[in-house]
Amino acid sequence: MELQLEPLHLPSDNERPFVIAGPCSAESEEQVLTTARQLASKGCHMFRAGVWKPRTKPGGFEGKGEEALPWLKKVKEETGMLVATEVAKPEHVELCLKYGIDLLWIGARTSANPFAMQDLADALKGVDIPVFVKNPVNPDLELWIGAMERINQAGIKKMAAIHRGFSSYDKKIYRNLPMWQIPIELHRRIPELPIICDPSHIGGRRDLIAPLCQQAMDLGFDGLIVESHCNPDEAWSDAKQQVTPDVLDYILSLLVVRDETVTTEGIRQLRHQIDDLDNNLMDLLSKRMRICREIGQYKKEHNMTVLQPARYNEILEKRGAQGALCGMSSEFVAHVFELIHEESVRQQIEIVNQK
Ligand code: PEP
Ligand code: MN
Repeated sequence: MELQLEPLHLPSDNERPFVIAGPCSAESEEQVLTTARQLASKGCHMFRAGVWKPRTKPGGFEGKGEEALPWLKKVKEETGMLVATEVAKPEHVELCLKYGIDLLWIGARTSANPFAMQDLADALKGVDIPVFVKNPVNPDLELWIGAMERINQAGIKKMAAIHRGFSSYDKKIYRNLPMWQIPIELHRRIPELPIICDPSHIGGRRDLIAPLCQQAMDLGFDGLIVESHCNPDEAWSDAKQQVTPDVLDYILSLLVVRDETVTTEGIRQLRHQIDDLDNNLMDLLSKRMRICREIGQYKKEHNMTVLQPARYNEILEKRGAQGALCGMSSEFVAHVFELIHEESVRQQIEIVNQK
């Protein structure tokens, strides 16, 4: 099913993508207004702040709730910025409408749940407000599109998708793996749907905000949603990934916003997919080596030889044959595994000889 969409018409400056910025959570009236004033003075047109916070574990700060909505209203009145917050339940929608919130987004944990999405869609029937839908925590494009279809079928026409990365057990580089091929495929399937990048939740670290924003621009994303806090180190949630309005402005000033030209855009997207896959390869390789080192420890404790020829042969044969089935030459794949094996043997020899 196609989405029935209308243009968003959100405020932005010509030379920059549209940006929604603000703290992860609304903590106090002072924190909200101080951050908002600083962002507005940097030319920011849209303000975000989480009022209801979906937390992984119970007992933490779960958001100020309704108490924080007048603060957002004040931001809007004082600075003229549009204000946005996350909704996860029908009563959140009702309250946002009551306090004049301009834009709603649906979080990654909610968009993964069709029951919750349908409840939200029902609450949004007959309402005219832009709704942005974050990707579900799991890398499932159909689930993401399905979540947006429910909202769209309720009559919401001003929509955008927010790419915030995908949960993974392994959090080496990113807090949430970007898996750029998924938003790229979404764009191919629904070209008229704007896509916004959330570098804060993908990266989980301040130093990754700038490169992730640039990567989103290189891929032709339409906008950014970035967490910014007047005092990031003291933030009550997501402290490590928030930047001050000053730093955000600097990051945005360095962004190269490229024109989409038909001839080079295709190859650029493909190269980004390659880069992403290479990152995954590196990740997998280092995980594999970690396990090899554990095996090295076991061999040492049980006085076994590092080289186990039967096991080595089994790997080369099995992967070589698999390579042929995957459209590669079996010699090439066997060679790759010879090299990998060589490195694991080297590392295990180091381990068994450790005093
Ligand atoms: C957020 O935007 O602060 C948030 C909770 O994000 P996500 O739903 O992407 O985890
Ligand atoms: Mn956050």
